[in-house]
Amino acid sequence: MMMISYKQPLQYADFQDLADQIRFHGADGKIWFGEQRMLLMQVSAMANFRRELVNSLGIERAKGFFMRMGYQSGIKDAELARRLRPQCSELDIFLAGPQLHSLKGMVKVQPIRIDLDQESGHFHGELEWIDSFEVEICQTELGMMDEPVCWVLIGYACAYTSAFMGREIIFREVSCRGCGDDKCLILGKPAEEWEDAETFKQYFRSDPIIEELYDLQSQLNSLRTSLEKQQGQYYGIGQSAAYKNTCKMIDKAAKGKVSVLLLGETGVGKEVIARSVHLRSERANKPFVAINCAAIPPDLIEAELFGVEKGAYTGANQTRTGRFERANGGTIFLDEVIELTPRAQATLLRVLQEGELERVGDSHTRKVDVRVIAATNESLAYAVMTGRFRADLYYRLNVFPVSIPPLRERIEDLPLLVEHFLQKFHGEYSKRTLGLSDKALEMCMHYVWPGNIRELENVIERGVILTDSNESISQESLFTMFSCAENTQVGERLDRDGLLVQNQPAQVAGDDWVSHILDQAISLDHVEEQLMRRAMEMAGQNVSQAARLLGLTRPALAYRLKKSGIAADE
Ligand SMILES: [Zn+2]
Repeated sequence: MMMISYKQPLQYADFQDLADQIRFHGADGKIWFGEQRMLLMQVSAMANFRRELVNSLGIERAKGFFMRMGYQSGIKDAELARRLRPQCSELDIFLAGPQLHSLKGMVKVQPIRIDLDQESGHFHGELEWIDSFEVEICQTELGMMDEPVCWVLIGYACAYTSAFMGREIIFREVSCRGCGDDKCLILGKPAEEWEDAETFKQYFRSDPIIEELYDLQSQLNSLRTSLEKQQGQYYGIGQSAAYKNTCKMIDKAAKGKVSVLLLGETGVGKEVIARSVHLRSERANKPFVAINCAAIPPDLIEAELFGVEKGAYTGANQTRTGRFERANGGTIFLDEVIELTPRAQATLLRVLQEGELERVGDSHTRKVDVRVIAATNESLAYAVMTGRFRADLYYRLNVFPVSIPPLRERIEDLPLLVEHFLQKFHGEYSKRTLGLSDKALEMCMHYVWPGNIRELENVIERGVILTDSNESISQESLFTMFSCAENTQVGERLDRDGLLVQNQPAQVAGDDWVSHILDQAISLDHVEEQLMRRAMEMAGQNVSQAARLLGLTRPALAYRLKKSGIAADE
C-alpha cells in the first residue's frame, strides 16, 4: 500500500512528460494532446454556456450534464496516464490525473493524503482544489450557489479514479468556495462507503430531457382532446344573439336521430357545425365522414357514396366501399347535396327510408345505419320546384332545418373570430404579430364578407404572412389590391393561394390592358417601373412585402428598384 501525505502543491517539473504531449498544429487547425484532439476555448464562453444551461435546464440537470462531461474526459485520461508512465509507481501513475487537471488550466491541485493499492482495491483520497475554473465561473457569471459547484472537476475525478482502480470510486466535494466555504476540498473512497452512492450515481446517467418533453406533449394532447370532447367540440366561435340561437338549435338537433339540413351561405362553417352535431350526439364515438358533393364528378358520385363492385363499369378495377359504409354507425355530412345526380338522389332516399343500399354493380343489399346531415347554400325548395331535386328526398332531409347566419349578421363576433385565426396562423407561421390595427379592424367590421368565415380566415392568413412579428396587421395587408366597396367578389379570389390568385386579376378580366399598353406605345421599362412603384406604395415602402406582391424574391426586386432608380428604404 502506498500512502503519501503532501505539504506542497504539485510541481510542474513532475509532469513535464505530460506537458510534452501537447502539440499545436495551428496550420492544420488542430491541437493534439497525445492522441486526443483538444480545444482551446475561453473560460468566459464556457461561463456563458453554463449560465444558459442552468437557466434552461435548471441546476440539477445542468449539474448532471457537466459532471458527465468531466466523466468522459476522466475515462480518456486514465487510459493516457497508464500508457505514458508504464515504468512508474502506482502513485505516480495515479497523480497524472490531478496533474492533467492542472495542465489543462482547470484547477491547481494540492493532494493532502492519498492511500491506494490497486491489488486490494483500497482507495482513500483527500485533495484540495485551488482556483477552480468553475468557482471562477460562479463568481463572474452565475453568482454563489447553495451547494458545491465544481461539477466538471468532480465528474473527472470519479471517472479517472474508477478507471484507474478498476472499481467504482466516488469523489465528493466536502467543501467548495463556490458555495461560500473557504476552500474546495474533495474526498474520494469506494462507492460502497458512501451512504447515498446510488442517488449520486444518477448524475452519471444521461437523462434526455427530450423524452420528458415528448411525454408532456402527449399528455397535453390527450388532455386537449378530452377537453374538446367534453365541450362537444366547439361549434365554432361566437357570442352574438344570432349565433347563440343557432347553437341552441344544434343542441336540439344533436340529441335527436333525424336528418339535419344546414342552410346558409358559402363559408359560414357548416362542416364545423355538422361535426359539432355529431360529437354532441350518441354517435360521437363512431365515424364522422364529410363529403362535398360538388367536388366529385357526377358520374362517380354514386360509387363514391355507396361503393362499387369490381367491373361495374370501365375503370372500376377493384371493389371499394363507399362513404356510407365507412360512416356506418356514425354520421355522414353531405355538403352541397343539391349537386347529387338523380340516381344518387334515389339511392340516398332508399338509405334514409330503408336503411339499406347496394353498391354500384352489385345485387347484394347491405344494411347501413348512418345519420345524414346535409347542407346547401342554394334553395332546395326552389330546386324541387324546377325539377332538379326530388320532392320526397327534400322532405326527408328537411325534417330539422337549421339556418346558419352569415358573418355580416353576427358581425359582433368578428373580433373573437379574428383572435381565433390569429392564434392559429401565428402557430402555423411561427410568428407573432400585434394583431389587427384599429383601422384594419374597423374596415373588417364594415365589410360585407360574401365569403363569410372562410373568407375571413383567408384574409387573416394573408395578413399574418405579410406582417412581421411585433408589427400590427395593416388594412393594406388585409385588402391589398381590392377596394371593398367596388369588389364584393373578393372572397372568390382570395383562395388558399390568395396571393397568387389575386396577382392575376387582369387575366380574369381579359387582356384589354395589354392592348391598351401596346396601343399607347408604352415601353416595357415604363410598365415595370410603374408596377414596382405601385407595389412599393401598397407595401408601405417595405421591399419584402412589395416583392411578395409582385411574385419576386426580395433581392430580385431590390436589384430592379436600384436599376430603375426608385428609392427604397432599407
Ligand atoms: Zn469547488
